[in-house]
Amino acid sequence: MSVTNNNSSARVIDGKELARRTRLEIAAGVAALKAEHGIVPGLAVILVGDNPASVSYVTAKEKACAEVGMLSREIRMPADVPERALLDEIARLNEDSAVHGILVQLPLPKGFDEKRVIDAISPEKDVDGFTPVNVGRMIIGEQCFLPCTPHGIVKLIEFAGIDVRGRHAVVIGRSNIVGKPVAALLARKGTDATVTLCHTGTPDVARFTREADVVVVAAGRPGTLTGDMLKPGAVVIDVGVNRVPDATSPRGYRLVGDADFASCADVASAITPVPGGVGPMTITMLMWNTLSAARRSVV
Ligand code: NAP
Repeated sequence: MSVTNNNSSARVIDGKELARRTRLEIAAGVAALKAEHGIVPGLAVILVGDNPASVSYVTAKEKACAEVGMLSREIRMPADVPERALLDEIARLNEDSAVHGILVQLPLPKGFDEKRVIDAISPEKDVDGFTPVNVGRMIIGEQCFLPCTPHGIVKLIEFAGIDVRGRHAVVIGRSNIVGKPVAALLARKGTDATVTLCHTGTPDVARFTREADVVVVAAGRPGTLTGDMLKPGAVVIDVGVNRVPDATSPRGYRLVGDADFASCADVASAITPVPGGVGPMTITMLMWNTLSAARRSVV
């Protein structure tokens, strides 16, 4: 069963469970690659500065690598490292045959040209799927590394048994890492949703979401999507991760998504929780891409 029940009408799509199953599959792939070719997939993670959220994301990625039997190499650089030194490090990793995937944790500290840094990663090791070559290949339907969060979202929708063919999907947010690629993947031949992409230039987002069978919200703002903006029975995929102050939590904050869970769950047929929905799948698809990169290195 891909979903669990809660007290409201919506089923809760369990991203943790799908991530667990997918990671078992990845671990089996890693073991087979090692046994058959003596190759252990390796992921290099570059962290510049000490932004607490970035540190925790990097730690989670390294832990996930260990869980599936991959190697991870963490490269830490101070926030004031010259951009040239970062580009030189990426060039070294591009040439290192023990490294199959390279990830630069974003956002970079102020002063870095993120585009120049990402562009320096070899497309064959770009397991985040952020380089223009991979984005272009995704758009024209060639083999590529799909960006992890959008890929995880498509997997979650499939896992929940939701067929989007011929259905109307509304995506709120047009970032290069979530909104635009998720819209492109949902509209791909074979997935076949009819997609509307909303952003801050959309005068009345609710006009579109009320007609949607699936709403993917990736706006980075709590409460962007509320139950009154939904058609009864719609599916809600909540990508947002927002820290809101919470004195009752030992950390002083709690995580919420971009959808108002309670009101949306009353109207929707299925919804992803935050945490425990899209998030676990993002790191899982990074492992997936790293395994694919290592497989492709077999000549
Ligand atoms: P982003 O770069 O800030 O982009 C947000 C997008 O939402 C922009 O295109 C913006 O429009 C649009 N937007 C903001 N408020 C809106 C509103 N009220 N109505 C319509 N559109 C609105 O954010 P992102 O990187 O895509 O991330 C979005 C959220 O997902 C964040 O909370 C982030 O933390 C989370 N996230 C989660 C994961 C995960 O693994 N769970 C991964 C990545 C991101 P304009 O372009 O017009 O400004």
